[in-house]
Amino acid sequence: MTNKILIMSVYKEYCGDKVRLYTSYKENNEEKLFYYEVNKTYDEYLVDDRADAFVVAFINYALLKGLDIDSKIPISTSIYYSLINHYIPTLTNLNKNYKPIIYSGDYICDIVNSGNAIATGMSRGVDSFTSFSLNYYNDVPEIYKINTLTFFDIGSSQSSLTGKFSKKEIIEFKNRDIIKSIKKIEEERFNGASKVARELGGLPIIRISSNIQEVQNIKHKYVHSLRSISAVLSMQKYFKIYYFASTVDINATKIDHTDPSYYDLLTLNLFSTKATRFIQGDIAYSRLKKTDIISNIEISYNNLNVCWRDAYNCGRCNKCIRTLVTLDFLNKLENYKNVFDINQYYKNRERNIAHVFINRKNDIFYKEIYWFYKKNKINIKKIKRFKYYKFYLYFKIKKTLKKIFWFLKKN
Ligand SMILES: [Zn+2]
Repeated sequence: MTNKILIMSVYKEYCGDKVRLYTSYKENNEEKLFYYEVNKTYDEYLVDDRADAFVVAFINYALLKGLDIDSKIPISTSIYYSLINHYIPTLTNLNKNYKPIIYSGDYICDIVNSGNAIATGMSRGVDSFTSFSLNYYNDVPEIYKINTLTFFDIGSSQSSLTGKFSKKEIIEFKNRDIIKSIKKIEEERFNGASKVARELGGLPIIRISSNIQEVQNIKHKYVHSLRSISAVLSMQKYFKIYYFASTVDINATKIDHTDPSYYDLLTLNLFSTKATRFIQGDIAYSRLKKTDIISNIEISYNNLNVCWRDAYNCGRCNKCIRTLVTLDFLNKLENYKNVFDINQYYKNRERNIAHVFINRKNDIFYKEIYWFYKKNKINIKKIKRFKYYKFYLYFKIKKTLKKIFWFLKKN
């Protein structure tokens, strides 16, 4: 038996004050154990009579690797229907990097009764704060108002390892230093999310941890949406509505095998069940508009964390730079003086703006900042133009040399 994931069992196990939801499965005959872990107080909500969470966690990985999925444990009817009739055909028909695979397994009735948690993830980024604020502060009917925050340890900190370890080591996830580094950053980020929950008057925050990086060796970006949906489905009896923060707006929708967030709208619709409904919490807005929205939300001032490298904002990575330049153009930078080194930014202002403008053709977020600058005739005369053009030229030459290098290497 090859090219197959076989889900053999789903069960709970207690470990101190924690409870784990396990699946025992085989990937190409290699036996593996994958679990989600929550505080014991959430024990009754873990779903151990069906394999919804695990099938969803495996699906894009299987489509990319060409692995059929067979499950001895049933899945909810709605997930089964969506998977066979819509999800697999849509992805495989519209992007050839997704290989046609077969799902075999039984299905049972959806869970009908769920808890009352109306939740969203609190990663403290721009999308996360926007999704939260639109469905918490705004005048939404009580049954749609957020009453719970979540924090998932499912691989999102993987990018913090870039440049510190080899790509191979990061994906393998065996090096002790890598595991230590991930645990540290996840702990720091969870502390940051807990601080937000406290500042919101003690809003409940639920943490779902997992060993997914140990058992599923793939770049997190390729499967990130499915991992988040899976974590929520592991606790379907708890979540009534789950707001998903979108990465891109609806106009950017496409079936992109390197980043499922481009078709979140499809995935969230298809993997909603009778117990848990997924909604994109901020779909109407572009990243720039979202930055504008949260710049009016006080709780973001001391808590915004956009950096993919560190638990604090480094001010040098592309995510930090684009957020800094956006806040600068919106005249809101001062609000964030406690989470960004503003003086450092002003010292390098020309360099940062030039970096955004020169890279705008390959990045929709940079492009948007550039058009905002053009449309609003933002005066960059205040910064020394000479300095700006010097950096512009520097980045342009660097980019051209890079292109020449890759051309020569290829030929
Ligand atoms: Zn950064």
